Amino acid sequence: MDAELKLKCNSCGNRFRVMTMKYDKTGKNLICEDCYARQNPQTARPAPTVKPAEQKEVDKWYCKKCGYKFSRKKGAVVSRCPYCNNAMVAKQEDLHAASLVDQSSDGRFDF
Ligand SMILES: [Zn+2]
Ligand SMILES: [Zn+2]
Repeated sequence: MDAELKLKCNSCGNRFRVMTMKYDKTGKNLICEDCYARQNPQTARPAPTVKPAEQKEVDKWYCKKCGYKFSRKKGAVVSRCPYCNNAMVAKQEDLHAASLVDQSSDGRFDF
């Protein structure tokens, strides 16, 4: 059935049609296009420069006292709420964690 001549790639061991294969650097071994590209990075297609989806490099914060939500540059240290100037500020990631804890332990934190 398979009349097409296939040869084993000397690098990855898979079989490929001989017409798609290339000689490796030594010129002795036939390897497949993929392995050839890997051995010759300069001939490989340049990786597409995909820009990651625009991410705002910010941390989201909230004030535990007044509930004011705000964002600051990622990594910035926020010690006070810009609204009420209270020091009980936390990142909103923590808010999720905190609310989970609250739900699972109703009534235990009696302020
Ligand atoms: Zn190969
Ligand atoms: Zn506040």
